[in-house]
Amino acid sequence: MTTPSEQHGPSAADGTDIVVPDFCENLLEPGLGTAASSRIDLASDADEDVFADLVDAVLVSDPGTEVLEVAVDGVVVGATSRSFIRRTFAWPPDPRSVGDADRSELAGDAGEFQHLRYTCPEPGCGRVTYRVRHDARRPPLCPDHSGTAMSLRV
Ligand SMILES: [Zn+2]
Repeated sequence: MTTPSEQHGPSAADGTDIVVPDFCENLLEPGLGTAASSRIDLASDADEDVFADLVDAVLVSDPGTEVLEVAVDGVVVGATSRSFIRRTFAWPPDPRSVGDADRSELAGDAGEFQHLRYTCPEPGCGRVTYRVRHDARRPPLCPDHSGTAMSLRV
């Protein structure tokens, strides 16, 4: 058994080491800065499938999104990007190699996975946070407006 304290990952603003959960490691782009206006906010009990589904849903629903900041329980652990996901997982698939049947199957999968989109109520703030589950008691807070709860958009 190794202890997380032996690993040297990214450091938080206050200098403490950030422990990147194992399920995040394959989906984070190494060395990518976290200065993105869009954030994926995962719970610490999520797994790689949940993370992958959420990234997938966000990249499909928001074609303009290139870089996603990734947080676990509100703490930023890294970032990922559309180009990194495409390079690493060959996603989205080459349209020429996907038949009509496969395409409809993909659409069905996307429809079953519901992701939540939160925006900041402050005028002009472009921050967006994505989650898998809604928790009314703990809404995501805007990274730029500390203490401002973000609103769920449907
Ligand atoms: Zn804001």
